[in-house]
Amino acid sequence: MGKFLSISSGSNGNCYYIGNGHTALIVDAGIGFRTIKSRLASAGVDVASVGMIFVTHDHVDHIRGLASVAQRLSVPVYATAKLHDALSRHKAVGPELSGSRRVLRAGYETEMRGVRCVSFEVPHDAAQTLGYRIEFFGTTFVFMTDLGFVPDYAYGYCASADYVIIESNYDVDMLLGGNYPPDLKARIMSDRGHLSNEACAAALRRIWHPGLRGIFLCHLSKDNNTQELAYNTARSSLTSLGLSVPGDIRLECMPRSEVFSMDF
Ligand SMILES: [Zn+2]
Ligand SMILES: [Zn+2]
Repeated sequence: MGKFLSISSGSNGNCYYIGNGHTALIVDAGIGFRTIKSRLASAGVDVASVGMIFVTHDHVDHIRGLASVAQRLSVPVYATAKLHDALSRHKAVGPELSGSRRVLRAGYETEMRGVRCVSFEVPHDAAQTLGYRIEFFGTTFVFMTDLGFVPDYAYGYCASADYVIIESNYDVDMLLGGNYPPDLKARIMSDRGHLSNEACAAALRRIWHPGLRGIFLCHLSKDNNTQELAYNTARSSLTSLGLSVPGDIRLECMPRSEVFSMDF
């Protein structure tokens, strides 16, 4: 049996876990080693079981704990050459990662420890931002956290997914009516910013296919969103396809600072 955990999700830090008795991985390490260790322990998982790390992009909420986690666990860190370059220059990571660097080519599938993985570029204002399709011993997860819009080719990666972890960052009215400075609002809403609830919901209509078992909404804004708004927007999009939620498909919002756990 496998376990998917959302350990932290949002601008406070992002970290997701997939594992079984054989191996385990995390996607991003935006929180510190001790927090990752204790939250994994609360879900019955030993941090020492983590055998590899995949990085989505070089924003601090995704890499704050990366150097320490990679060193403490001495495990490989997967990213493209371009992203590794940016990480080695980032003050939160720096050159210490060098021994753990493993280079992926976006669009090319690789296999490590029985896990098949392909990264693909998504539009966001980092040096490079990656989505991942991870086939974990027969169960396929697609991660798209932090993106301004879902590019056409990304839907192809979702076609065989069992679970999609996708950003539902902000409610448009809350963002526009809130007190963020205008340039920050424009950045968030741009094509290289974040996905609104509405944009996520529209994407879900294209992502859905009969084999899709679950959708996990991630990276919800603390200031410009609520779990209820994100959930309801996505839910009505799915019910417009004639689906019953949660009868036909599991839909969940990932909590910001608590563990979400699912066995698969
Ligand atoms: Zn982020
Ligand atoms: Zn980001």
